[in-house]
Amino acid sequence: MTRPRFNRILLKLSGEVLMGEGHAIDPAVTARVAREIADVKAQGYEICVVVGGGNIFRGLAAAAKGFERATADYMGMLATVMNALAVQNALEQIGVDTRVQSAIPMASVCEPFIRRRAERHLEKGRVVIFAAGVGSPFFTTDSGAALRAAELKCDALFKGTSVDGVYDADPKKVATAKRFNTISYDRVLADNLKVMDASAVALCRDNNIPIVVFNIREQGNLSRVLSGEGTATIVQM
Ligand code: UDP
Repeated sequence: MTRPRFNRILLKLSGEVLMGEGHAIDPAVTARVAREIADVKAQGYEICVVVGGGNIFRGLAAAAKGFERATADYMGMLATVMNALAVQNALEQIGVDTRVQSAIPMASVCEPFIRRRAERHLEKGRVVIFAAGVGSPFFTTDSGAALRAAELKCDALFKGTSVDGVYDADPKKVATAKRFNTISYDRVLADNLKVMDASAVALCRDNNIPIVVFNIREQGNLSRVLSGEGTATIVQM
């Protein structure tokens, strides 16, 4: 499958991607993810990263157990800041220059999100890690990823998951499930396919940002998919 050449990408990492046995944030697993990012950085791509927080705290799940939703969501956003610092730490340990910007200002921990400043970091070759989603409750980091991808004019949003693309049924449950090479935003929304949440998909559609769904758990896969080799699904017009 030939894929367009992307120069600036936004990588969305779910919090779960950093998990290891018994650890919400496993240093070895986080280091492996950092190496994936460092590899593609070394190939000349500009990379922003949005990290989720689901390995630590999810607002919706906590609300179902009695937490007030908005408070729980703020807790979830704080969890994403911890993950962002973990990814920053892992990247800097292997010599990649990074900045963390949070949608909720936290002056002594990281920079606040300032679009023009983020732009400058990317131009200087830094990896910019965005934390705290959009900064408001009732959203997710998928929406944060779509928003930042639009603001930073990214060529594509790479959604790292534990499956190698979008299927017409859950491939872990249905043996005959079929993977799409490409699929339209509208089909994803109409069929309620679990790619990203609907508001994130709609934002990507409205700004014509392709969503590349791929398996981040496979070593070297981000690099392969970027070069057009690895298996993935592209959600596009
Ligand atoms: N969250 C939020 N607003 C945002 C982003 C995240 O309220 O803009 C909260 C929400 O409670 C969410 C939690 O932070 O459940 C963790 O983010 P998410 O579920 O997107 O993480 P992921 O599933 O990607 O690990």
